[in-house]
Amino acid sequence: MRALGIEVICGVRIERICGLDRVEGVDIDGRRLDADLVVLGLGSRPESELAAAAGVPLGETGAIAVDDHQRTRIDAVWSAGDCAEATHRLTGRPANFHLGTVANKTGRVAGINLGGGDASFPGVLGTVITKVCDLEIAATGLRPEEAADAGFDVVVGEAEGTTTAGYWPGATPMRIRAVAERDGGRLLGAQIVGGPGAGKRIDVFATAIWNRMTADDLAWTDLAYAPPFSGVWDLVHIAARRAGPAET
Ligand SMILES: Cc1cc2nc3c(=O)[nH]c(=O)nc-3n(C[C@H](O)[C@H](O)[C@H](O)COP(=O)(O)OP(=O)(O)OC[C@H]3O[C@@H](n4cnc5c(N)ncnc54)[C@H](O)[C@@H]3O)c2cc1C
Repeated sequence: MRALGIEVICGVRIERICGLDRVEGVDIDGRRLDADLVVLGLGSRPESELAAAAGVPLGETGAIAVDDHQRTRIDAVWSAGDCAEATHRLTGRPANFHLGTVANKTGRVAGINLGGGDASFPGVLGTVITKVCDLEIAATGLRPEEAADAGFDVVVGEAEGTTTAGYWPGATPMRIRAVAERDGGRLLGAQIVGGPGAGKRIDVFATAIWNRMTADDLAWTDLAYAPPFSGVWDLVHIAARRAGPAET
């Protein structure tokens, strides 16, 4: 963000948001910052208090405990979305991601079951994507420290390159990190940072991890190539190869 010309100020106390009818600035540590817009990025937590007060049991994450049919532990009460837990496909543990992707799918499952059908939710990897100006940032599965916390012994493969063939006009830097289990090579996670075109590569990893592919499988997968889109070896291949047995 600093490289993009953004002044990043961390670790200071916001004393006041100023302005009468509309925001004009923010006071921090005795200094006024002019502002047209103030965004409060405060994180999120499940809104499960109403359910708890009504006697619906919560899970270990603080969200509503559900089974794979989105049934709570109270008969004929279903829960879906941000307020409900979901099973993490890699750890097998309850997780609580606040994502529209998860909310839509769990909502669909709950709706089918409420309507008399039979649907089950297969779990989450925690696939996310965002951008800051042109810089795309994406992740799926487990970061190395999360994998270690979950008891996995991991290999981390890192690769730096460009979003398109390096000589292509407009090629921008991209970095990918792949995380795989040391024993057996199963992919467990990936993180990507880079220019336009970098972020959605995370879906390749998400698909591979979802289907329990190894790093070596992904390193040889037949991905598309032409210079405006990637190198012949996409950085996805290279990061996966470096997390695989040939490199360890
Ligand atoms: C700024 C922002 C950007 C986001 N961007 C993304 C993104 O890019 N990708 C992504 O995957 N996810 C994103 N999300 C997350 C996504 O929006 C949520 O995960 C999703 O909307 C959750 O759906 P939900 O139905 O569980 O809850 P909500 O969408 O929050 O719906 C809950 C509804 O319940 C209502 N409600 C609450 N209490 C009561 C009550 N007591 N009685 C009646 N009604 C009540 C609320 O008013 C609300 O309408 C973003 C969220 C925010 C805030």
